[in-house]
Amino acid sequence: MSNTSNASNNPPEGLATRAIHFGYNPQDEHGALTPPLHLTSTYAFETAEAGGEIFAGEREGFVYSRVGNPTTDLLERRIANLEGAEAALATSSGMGAITALFWTYLESGDEIITDLTLYGCTFALFSHGFSRFGIKVTHIDMTDPANLESAINDKTKFVYFETPANPNMRIVDIAAISRIAHASGAQVIVDNTYATPIITRPIELGADFVVHSATKYLGGHGDLLAGIVVGRLEQMIEVRTIGIKDMTGAVISPFNSMLILRGLKTLELRMERHSANAMEIAQMLAAHTAVDWVNYPGLESFTQHDLATRQMSMFGGIIAFEVKGGFDAGNRVMYALNMITRAVSLGDAETLIQHPASMTHITYTEEERAAHGISEGLVRISAGLENVDDILAALQRALTQA
Ligand SMILES: *Cc1c(COP(=O)(O)O)cnc(C)c1O
Repeated sequence: MSNTSNASNNPPEGLATRAIHFGYNPQDEHGALTPPLHLTSTYAFETAEAGGEIFAGEREGFVYSRVGNPTTDLLERRIANLEGAEAALATSSGMGAITALFWTYLESGDEIITDLTLYGCTFALFSHGFSRFGIKVTHIDMTDPANLESAINDKTKFVYFETPANPNMRIVDIAAISRIAHASGAQVIVDNTYATPIITRPIELGADFVVHSATKYLGGHGDLLAGIVVGRLEQMIEVRTIGIKDMTGAVISPFNSMLILRGLKTLELRMERHSANAMEIAQMLAAHTAVDWVNYPGLESFTQHDLATRQMSMFGGIIAFEVKGGFDAGNRVMYALNMITRAVSLGDAETLIQHPASMTHITYTEEERAAHGISEGLVRISAGLENVDDILAALQRALTQA
C-alpha cells in the first residue's frame, strides 16, 4: 500500500499509482476504500486552548472550510505530489486560482510579462482588470526566449504563460524562460491546464508556480468548476491566507474536491486516450483537402515539434485548425457536425468543438486577435474519449458537407 511517501529504499512510484493512492490510508477512515467527503463549514475544538493553539499555528487542525477542509487537503497533497511540488491549493475555478495567486503578491507599479496568446478571461483580467490598479502587462512572443531577455526589467514581478497556449497550441520553453526570469529576480507562473502533470511538470523544469483550470482534464467529466495553484509551501500558505481567505474567497466546494479525486484515478489513462485520438484527428485533418492548416504538437509539420517532444511526454488532446474559406467555412463545418458537441470548455469525455473568435476569445478585439496569433477562422477541437473512428467519420462528413 502506498501512503504519504515512498520508503527511501523503494523506487519512485509511477504517476497513475500516485494519482490513485498518494496521501490516503483506508485504515485511517474505517477501512473505507474511497476517501470520505467532509461536508462541513466549521470544526469543533476539543478545548478552548486547543482552538487558540490551532489559530496561532502552534497545533495542526482545521478551523473553517474557507481555509482548509480534509477532503480538499487530500486533493491538494495529491496534486502537489503529481506536479513534483511542495504544496498545492485548490480553488473554486481556474480564474479563482489565477486571481488568488496574483492578488496575494501584486502591488501597483508591478509589471507582468506574458506571452502573446492567453485564454480569453486571463487576457481580460490582464488587459481590463489589472490596468485599473496600476499594474503594467506586456505581451511578447515567448516562443523565442530572447524576447524575454530584452523585455524584462527590475519591475517585472511575474512572467506568465500557457503551454500549450489556448487556443492556438503555441509551446513555450519552460526551462529557458525560467532561467532568464530568475536571473532578473522575476518569478514564473505556468498555466498547465492543457498538458496536466501527466504530460509536463513545470516545477521540475524551473517554474515557481503552476496554475490549473481543474474544470478541464483534472476533473475530466464536465461536471464541475475548480482550479489549482501549485508552488513552494511557504508561498502556498501566503496564497491561502491572503489570496483565498481574505482577497478573493474563491474556495472550492469539498464535493468538487471529491469529484476531482475521482477524476484523478483515471487521469493518466484518459490523457493517453485523449492524446491518441487527437493524433489521429490531427493527421486526418492535415491530409484533408478542405483544411488550410492544423496545429497539433504531435505532428512533424508542427513548427515547434522538437520543443514539444522534449517538454511533453504525450501531445495532449487539443487541436487547432482552420478550414479553407476561414470563419464562414469553419462555422459551416461546426454546424454540419453530429455526435461532436458544439461547446466551449475542454478535457471532457465528449469531443467538443468551438470557435474562439466568437466564443472563448471574444474578450480580444478583432485587431488584438490578429496581433496575438488567433486567426478568425481558427476552430478548436478537444478530442474526447469516444472510439476514434466515430470522431473521424463525423468530422469527415462535416468537412465534405460544408
Ligand atoms: C478554462 C481555462 C481557464 C479558466 O478556468 P475556469 O475553471 O473556467 O475558471 C484558465 N486557463 C486555461 C488555459 C483554460 O483553458
